[in-house]
Amino acid sequence: MYDYTGDAGHNCIPDSGAVGIRVEDQLTKELWGLVQSKLKQLGYTVLDCTPYGQSFNKVGGSLGYRVRIANENGSKLHICIHFNACPGGHGVEVYATSAAGREVAQRVCNEISKLGYTNRGVKDGSELFVVKYTYMPSILIECAFVDSAEDMNRYNAEAMANAIVKGITGQEVIKESEEFDMNDIVLYFGDADVFAAIMKAQRMRCPLMKESDFNASGLKAENKVIIGGPNGTIKGDDRFKTFKAVGNTF
Ligand SMILES: [Zn+2]
Repeated sequence: MYDYTGDAGHNCIPDSGAVGIRVEDQLTKELWGLVQSKLKQLGYTVLDCTPYGQSFNKVGGSLGYRVRIANENGSKLHICIHFNACPGGHGVEVYATSAAGREVAQRVCNEISKLGYTNRGVKDGSELFVVKYTYMPSILIECAFVDSAEDMNRYNAEAMANAIVKGITGQEVIKESEEFDMNDIVLYFGDADVFAAIMKAQRMRCPLMKESDFNASGLKAENKVIIGGPNGTIKGDDRFKTFKAVGNTF
């Protein structure tokens, strides 16, 4: 019996998540990893039920796997981490069925919305396989929209993980005593992204650097906005689309 079980949405074959400005599978994997380590830091036991990289005949196999591992081991709450996608959509919503699940779902929604995301509220999870078939109270968090520039600009995995843990446990995550050299910085991946980066840094009134230089410098920034490249927080399919994506954040 664990305190918490949970899974990062998708991340296996043929169950892959939404793709927008960012990729849901990457976000859920990173975020669920952070949530687990923060829960463990607070002294809770956690079991990861995600079948990373495994192959199933159907998506149902992926969902059934998660439910089976959670039910075989038991916990007081099962947590599914997802990201939404829908043109024009933005904000957080959390699905639950039981009264106990709804109560936690409301707290998670509130904590995430405190970060600035629109609070879309608690929704009925009775049609969602994992939420429906896990024996314990279960919540499915649609943290934000991967295709919303507003949400993806705001998105910070650490802050999101802290909000989820606070919502679930009611406890603040013990902050590591990290010293930052600056609050905000704009980083750009390639030289093609430099003008978009200048535009963004001027708006944010903050410094800018090439991402590779920043990584080599050892400098620490609390909030990094990365223009273009594989780690880009604002990016398009090519440099022109990246430029446009930056423009759309104003
Ligand atoms: Zn999903």
